[in-house]
Amino acid sequence: MPVPGNMMSLPLLISSILTHAVTNNPNQLIVTALGNGSIHRYRYADFATRTRKLAVGLQANNIQPGDRVGTLAWNTHRHLEIYYATAGIGVICHTINPRLHLDQIAFIINDAQDTVVFFDQHFSELVEQLIPLCPAVQQWVVLQEPDNACHEGRPNYAQWLQHDYAQFTWPQFDENTASGLCYTSGTTGNPKGALYAHRSTVLHAYASCHPDALGISRKNTVMPLVPMFHVNAWGLPYSALMSGAKIVMPGADLSGAALYQLCESEGVTLSAGVPSVWQGLVDHAQTNGLSFSTLDRAVIGGSACPPAMITALARMGVSVRHAWGMTEVSPLGTVCTLLPEQESFDDTEKLHILASQGRPLFGAQFSIMDENGQALPHDGKTTGNLMIRGNWVIERYYGHDETALENGWFHTGDVASIDANGYMRITDRSKDVIKSGGEWISSIDIENIALEHTDVLSAACIARADKKWGERPILIIMKKPATTPTAEGILALYKDRVAKWMVPDDVYFIDNMPMTATGKLQKTTLRTMFFEPREQSA
Ligand code: ADP
Repeated sequence: MPVPGNMMSLPLLISSILTHAVTNNPNQLIVTALGNGSIHRYRYADFATRTRKLAVGLQANNIQPGDRVGTLAWNTHRHLEIYYATAGIGVICHTINPRLHLDQIAFIINDAQDTVVFFDQHFSELVEQLIPLCPAVQQWVVLQEPDNACHEGRPNYAQWLQHDYAQFTWPQFDENTASGLCYTSGTTGNPKGALYAHRSTVLHAYASCHPDALGISRKNTVMPLVPMFHVNAWGLPYSALMSGAKIVMPGADLSGAALYQLCESEGVTLSAGVPSVWQGLVDHAQTNGLSFSTLDRAVIGGSACPPAMITALARMGVSVRHAWGMTEVSPLGTVCTLLPEQESFDDTEKLHILASQGRPLFGAQFSIMDENGQALPHDGKTTGNLMIRGNWVIERYYGHDETALENGWFHTGDVASIDANGYMRITDRSKDVIKSGGEWISSIDIENIALEHTDVLSAACIARADKKWGERPILIIMKKPATTPTAEGILALYKDRVAKWMVPDDVYFIDNMPMTATGKLQKTTLRTMFFEPREQSA
């Protein structure tokens, strides 16, 4: 008969990350770029003190456990304080993506029923538009200090930090209590909320520090380029603090020049973001003949990392860790590193592996299934619907009664293959897959080849309806400034690389590539721009 173990059971709370961090690394730094070259710098110890003050300030303003506190803010030390102060007292930190359409933001705030919204001054105009649309919000607090800074007579952040915190200690509660809320970007239908728990957040942070995941240690200086409003900046606010790493917050300026400067001046060793932000940094370095003196690892995910980007960063001494995740997965599911036996492979083979989405973190399990929910072989060739389950995977959407699972698995909406070592390779989002003559063409593969062209800045492959073949692939290209790539030149790259029937039928040039609020190609808009919109299912 099984017997219970005899070990302590302490709840996995977000406040325990903070307590651990400040007890063991009180002098470690958190640095924020405030804009115009101005830098804010303080120690974990100062951060912990202000976070406790804010926790008391939240209580003094009658914010109750379970309440939602919204944020419209860049990556800054103040945003980090809100993350920890809210969750630490059982309040839910609701990060809102300010790049969404006004109506969507209002929908999200109203759906979450936020009681208070903290916002960067940068978003003042947006907030003025939101106020009449979100009548349930009791206070809009501008993230400004000192006390005399004010915004249209609204309370400022300093007023929330004025309370006596000497007697305050972090409360202990059930580790399954909700800690954070983040909405999917809602490219189809209204956005839906993923409500994270303390336990899921701490386990996700733990797993992401693993050497074969993000490999974060006390030695690292971590700069999250991915915004704190995009799935908790991929957990870095938790994993970096848990590891005692120096944290560099880039603030509002995500231009290649500003990021490069910050990277060099603060000795950043690890940074993470979507390919479109990395592209700016890489372009800046390439154009100015620069290399990185401390940057060691670039974590790239959110959409497929083009192999050309892996190669460009490698030339600058930076190794890429390609990661896959989604809002519903907290977000990390896989990270790509080479196995020891693959280190001796030639460069082409290694690049092929590194361009895959990688292997599961402990705590995330994957399966690929056919349309009937039957599991398909993990042979590296068969593709199917990517399913996930695990300790930090959503079970149901916020405010929904029905489960989001199918037989215990969450359907990611991605199409992928998995090989015998667990390497997962996304071929497409199911709604982006192109079906030509009954065969599937991976839009990601087609885009990656176009991106090898030195004059191509951005490439999107979408389906055009075709009487004979059902659908045919079409390429949309945004060229680099002051270059003149030709359709023939780009199409020549496909020769002997893919089957003839996979080569795009046409190439169109476009001045600006439409992007989503999370920095990904907006293929729905491209389809409407170029062709009739098609059904959203594959
Ligand atoms: P949204 O893109 O709707 O804002 P998410 O950030 O949750 O929301 O996006 C998750 C999706 O992004 C995944 O289902 C997948 O399609 C895509 N994605 C994330 N990482 C990668 C990657 N490394 N390669 C390819 N696709 C990726």
